[in-house]
Amino acid sequence: MDKAIKNLPTEESGEVHGNNRAADAVPPSRAPSASVEPVTPAGVAACWSCHGPVMAGDLFCATCEAVQPPRPVDPFTRLALEPRFEMPIDELDRRYFDLQRCLHPDRFATKTSRERAISLALTADINAAYETLQDPVKRAIALLEMQGVTIHADGCNTMSDPVLLMEAMEQREALAEAETSIQVESIAAVAECEKADCLEELACAFGTNDLSAADRLTTRLKYLMKFEDELRAARVRFSQAP
Ligand SMILES: [Zn+2]
Repeated sequence: MDKAIKNLPTEESGEVHGNNRAADAVPPSRAPSASVEPVTPAGVAACWSCHGPVMAGDLFCATCEAVQPPRPVDPFTRLALEPRFEMPIDELDRRYFDLQRCLHPDRFATKTSRERAISLALTADINAAYETLQDPVKRAIALLEMQGVTIHADGCNTMSDPVLLMEAMEQREALAEAETSIQVESIAAVAECEKADCLEELACAFGTNDLSAADRLTTRLKYLMKFEDELRAARVRFSQAP
C-alpha cells in the first residue's frame, strides 16, 4: 500500500490531530501559511510542526499528525496512486473522495488558522491532480514530464509525424464533406475505434517505457479527442437540419 495513504488518519480515529501548541508558537510573519518548503532530491521534507521527516507527498506527518503543506509533487504522488497510464476511473474517484474526506473543513474547524490554510491549499492541489488524472491526454503528458520528456507549450509535441498529419487531414476532410448523419456516424465509429486503439497502444508504450512511442501516441490521442468535439458539433448540425 502506498505510503501517503498509510499516513492518513483512519476513519475510526476521527479527528486529525496537529501539534496546535507548536503551530501557535510560529511567529506571525510566518503564519498562517501554506508555503512550499524545501524538499530533498529523495523527496524528504521537514514537518513544519515537529520538524520530523515527511515525504513530499504526505498529507499528514506520521509523527505528530499535523497536516502538511502541498509540496511540488506529480499528480500521481499527490493522490497516492501508482504512476501508470491505465487508470480505472472508479479507483481514481475512490481515492479522490477518501482524500477529500480527510481534508474536510469540519475536521479543521477547531484547528489553527495555519492548519486551516494548509488544508485548503492541499484540497486545491488534490483537485488539480484529480482533474489531470481524469483526462487521458493530461495524464499521458504528466507521465512523460515525470520521465523528463519536454512537452511543448500547447500541451503536446507538434504534429510533426507526416503519417499522423495526413490521417488527421483526411478525417477532417471526410467530416467536412459528410452530407448525411449516417455518414457522420460512420466517421464517428471509425474515430471511436481509433481512439480505443490509441489508448491501448499508449498503455503498452508506457508499460514498456517506450517514451518516443508514448510521445507520438499522446499527440495522436490529443488530436483524436479534439476530433471527437468536431464530431459532436457535426451531430448537432445534422440534428438541427430540416
Ligand atoms: Zn510532525
